[in-house]
Amino acid sequence: MLDSYAVIGNPISHSKSPLIHTAFSQQTNQSMQYDAILGPLDGFQAAVEKFRQQGGKGLNVTVPFKLEAYRLITHLTERASIAQAVNTLKFENNEILGDNTDGAGLVRDIEWNLDTPIAGKRILLMGAGGAARGVILPLLQQKPSVLVIANRTLHKARALQQQFTSYGNITSGNMMSFSNENFDIIINATSASLQDALPGLPAHVFMDNSLTYDMMYRHEPTPFLKFAQQNGAQRIADGVGMLVEQAAESFFLWRGIRPQTKPVIALLKSQI
Ligand code: NDP
Repeated sequence: MLDSYAVIGNPISHSKSPLIHTAFSQQTNQSMQYDAILGPLDGFQAAVEKFRQQGGKGLNVTVPFKLEAYRLITHLTERASIAQAVNTLKFENNEILGDNTDGAGLVRDIEWNLDTPIAGKRILLMGAGGAARGVILPLLQQKPSVLVIANRTLHKARALQQQFTSYGNITSGNMMSFSNENFDIIINATSASLQDALPGLPAHVFMDNSLTYDMMYRHEPTPFLKFAQQNGAQRIADGVGMLVEQAAESFFLWRGIRPQTKPVIALLKSQI
């Protein structure tokens, strides 16, 4: 029997995870299958339990269940514990290990695929939701000179600053607080692009050689990436690389093998 994995979310039909993990398993000759499960909004825990009882080995967890998954686990990795959100579950004996691979995926995409070391850099992270929370610790662990959290609702950015202050040089404000400063790496972790909107960042933050990154992805540059280009940013990237890299990190947790990500990023880009 093949080892069984899946992604669970609601909605789920848009998920690229089955495509990514099927490509990884073929590339590394793993005997496994990977499916998509539509989790009932009022029945996440029961759906996880059913999958586990049927012999499932692990799950990726996506919107809206990342916080609920955090409450199900028996063991947590440090990064999931600090993020207080889980996107990967591993079932072993009677235990459920929870991990959060989003931050590692982002860091790997920026440093390896986009060839941009984080150490010593000034980073602006926009957003204070689940995605931002998951990437703060992995970013700080790379020792940027400063990590600035900017969020539309100021108190949420302040709360994250307080929570992570012992892990590195971190500060916070709203979108206009840093209009006289510029940054080496600017990351959009808001969901503004999902609404076809701009997050409200002033135009002066971009430099010629800044890397501007939007965690969202689609077939053309997001409004935010277009805005960055119009204001001088020459290096832009969307979240496809992060998506594939966080999946590779989950795959490594489950199978102990690191798949090659570049061919899978290219495959995904050709399909979006
Ligand atoms: P959340 O709903 O948890 O948080 C949304 C954040 O966006 C909040 O900080 C909110 O600000 C801000 N926001 C929403 N609309 C606007 C707007 N119009 N202008 C300014 N700020 C706005 O979402 P997530 O953190 O889970 O997801 C954020 C994005 O990251 C999504 O686009 C998601 O697709 C992407 N993502 C990509 C991943 C990848 O692998 N590539 C992985 C995970 C997420 P406020 O607090 O003021 O409401």
